[in-house]
Amino acid sequence: MKKYTGNSIYNAVAIGKVSIFKHCRGEVRRIRVDDPEAEKARLEKAKEMSINQLKEIYNKALNDVGEPNAWIFEIHMMLINDTDYNESLINIIDSQSVNAEYAVSVTADNFAAMFEAMDDSYMKARSADVKDISDRIINNLIMGGSECALFEAENVIVCADDLAPSETILLDKSKVLGFVTAYGSTNSHTAILARNMNIPAIMGVGEEFLKNIKEGDSIIADGFTGDVFTEPDFDTTERLTQKQNEEEEKRRFHQNLKGKENITLDGRVIDIFANIEGTENIGAVLLNDAGGIGLFRSEFLYLGRHDYPTEEEQFGVYKKVLESMAWKKVIIRTLDAGADKQADYFHIGKEENPALGCRAIRFCLSRPEIFKTQLRALYRASSYGNLGIMFPMITSVEELTEILDICKNVKNELKAQGKEYSENIEIGVMIETPAAAIISDLLAPMVDFFSVGTNDLTQYTLACDRQNPKVERFCDPHHKAVLRLIELTAENAHKNGARIGICGELGADTSLTEEFLRIGIDELSVTPGMVLKIRDRVRNIDLSK
Ligand code: PEP
Ligand code: MG
Repeated sequence: MKKYTGNSIYNAVAIGKVSIFKHCRGEVRRIRVDDPEAEKARLEKAKEMSINQLKEIYNKALNDVGEPNAWIFEIHMMLINDTDYNESLINIIDSQSVNAEYAVSVTADNFAAMFEAMDDSYMKARSADVKDISDRIINNLIMGGSECALFEAENVIVCADDLAPSETILLDKSKVLGFVTAYGSTNSHTAILARNMNIPAIMGVGEEFLKNIKEGDSIIADGFTGDVFTEPDFDTTERLTQKQNEEEEKRRFHQNLKGKENITLDGRVIDIFANIEGTENIGAVLLNDAGGIGLFRSEFLYLGRHDYPTEEEQFGVYKKVLESMAWKKVIIRTLDAGADKQADYFHIGKEENPALGCRAIRFCLSRPEIFKTQLRALYRASSYGNLGIMFPMITSVEELTEILDICKNVKNELKAQGKEYSENIEIGVMIETPAAAIISDLLAPMVDFFSVGTNDLTQYTLACDRQNPKVERFCDPHHKAVLRLIELTAENAHKNGARIGICGELGADTSLTEEFLRIGIDELSVTPGMVLKIRDRVRNIDLSK
């Protein structure tokens, strides 16, 4: 038996046989051609085939994992038509009189290296995307559009150096139990897709793993700990089979908690809400019996497109969410653009430290017209349900004062235009920076609620880039500094009659649920699939002890 450890992407145990993933990558040779025009025509045809295949992949992703996760394939389609990329292809074919495959391969290497060298983590991630689309074009050039052989084996754990997003989405969930990769970061699109496909996955186990495995070896991936065992011994297999059965049992048990209260043994009731990224997640929210929506990441309305969504477009989406939730609370966060959430039309420009740059509320306050369009849509939609609006990445009282003034102007404008809105909207701020937590006594009297964004609060408190896999081990959200800031914020919220929730990933960490309840957290907002698990945890806590 050998044990490897990587980063867990999805919490579940998979037990099966190794299937080594064969990338569908044709071998490229440099061939001199007499007719560069004919090569360019071949290239055009291969690009067209690639776009058609990506359209199909996009539709599959839309169906399997929803729009916010499918947009990466729209980016792939845009990259194929990117002017610089295409200029490089044509230039190599013309100037060197070489075959199209070679031009694509060289361009892919050059562009991937260029993206890789960038500081911005969003741009860095484009390196894998360029390789992914270039492999697709090369295959279409070599194989004339016939697809690579699809995955045949069943009950397997796919093992690969890395998986591209398009390879991940095409894994057949009825045959593949999970996947393990030697490389890859937990924040990559592949990881995000895996989480949304509910596939047990472990990434970054290291290259020794790949050297030592063989097709058909027995393998267990423990997605709770990130451990991978090859040719596991009897005891390990027994232990993890039991763990798998217990989890299955728990999952069934959790289903029986639908309709039950989130109440501790000594009678304290809290709210358990769900986080969503778009209307396609509402089904999961209702299915898992969440009491409301604690975080709607509205920026996903803005990503993967060429221009800002209009007021009408946004109004339609917000109204749909509010109506679907039938007067349960819906907290919508205003646009959290910047850092890892980028679109070309934002025109943010190059920043040395994008996580410390023009992101979230700073972006909105620098572009008041864009901010006002979103607020108008939100206020207009407020008549259709129980809306809370919250603002991301607040650091000062002055920012909040400016925001509240803009809200007042928006309301006056709507009133003057005879447009309806509710007077009962709750206003909140996200606590995502140490500054906001430290001045929470000053912010609390100005708002109805706080929502702690522990992903960013951890990043900014510990000075650890949440996108950088190299510092993942230093980015400990259980760090006392993070927990003390949450406690301080809870104290200040309650002294001033404001409520406090947690909507970052830590809210779903059951090892902290009791501590959160003891410091007075009123609401936990988690991915829909975690709602019943947290309910179970809450119902077993006795705060009187
Ligand atoms: C957070 O920072 O914890 C949060 C909920 O916001 P996001 O993850 O979208 O930045
Ligand atoms: Mg955040």
